[in-house]
Amino acid sequence: MTMENTDLSIRYLAFASERIAREHGWWEDDDRDMGNLLMLVVTELAEAFEEIRDNRDRELIYADLHSASFWVRIFIRFKKGFMPLRNISPYQDEWIEQNIKPEGFMVEIADVMIRLFDFIEHYKLTPVLLRALRLKLAFNEGRPYRHGGKAS
Ligand SMILES: [Mg+2]
Repeated sequence: MTMENTDLSIRYLAFASERIAREHGWWEDDDRDMGNLLMLVVTELAEAFEEIRDNRDRELIYADLHSASFWVRIFIRFKKGFMPLRNISPYQDEWIEQNIKPEGFMVEIADVMIRLFDFIEHYKLTPVLLRALRLKLAFNEGRPYRHGGKAS
């Protein structure tokens, strides 16, 4: 499976998230602490909150070229002209070629999901997740309006 020819189903997202993490050494210690893994998800939520605090458009996906190598920055500037480093959203396909890190609110939300999918798949919990999602969505659908009067 490749990222280009998939519909990004939950099974694929779980498979890809775990494979990429494993291939980058994150599962060399197979006995990682589940509480620690959950808190790493929270850190991604905190990064999403930082995007809100910085008052950025929630749909903006940007690249912080300060984190790119010197030659990549030169390449981008030569090809695209001199532009604000945080405002090159139209050129995201080149980010993949140049291995430039994307940033933004929804990128952090993606990180949340990638971290969740990673450990769910690693511990072979994806089928249970799918069952839990089906059951919980069905249960939520049957709940009373605002769950009987809750404020939030
Ligand atoms: Mg992140």
